[in-house]
Amino acid sequence: MSNIVDTQNTYYNFKDVLCTKHPMLKLKCKDAGFDCKFVAKGKTEDEIMQKAAEHAMKDHGMKPEDMTPEMKEKIRSHIHKSLF
Ligand SMILES: [Zn+2]
Repeated sequence: MSNIVDTQNTYYNFKDVLCTKHPMLKLKCKDAGFDCKFVAKGKTEDEIMQKAAEHAMKDHGMKPEDMTPEMKEKIRSHIHKSLF
């Protein structure tokens, strides 16, 4: 009996860690309109934005001046939370 309870507790703790303590954010370059398989991952939106901007400049020939507030908002709107 106690084994079953322990298994459930472990399961819920595991789930809790995934969901709340280490939420992972992802941004698919494809979702931002590029034909590309790059996925930016990070723990904060700022981290994602940083990686996405670096990637866009390196692999899509975008310039820093192309990173307008409108473009950043567009990219930011495609960031979503992921459990894995
Ligand atoms: Zn890309």
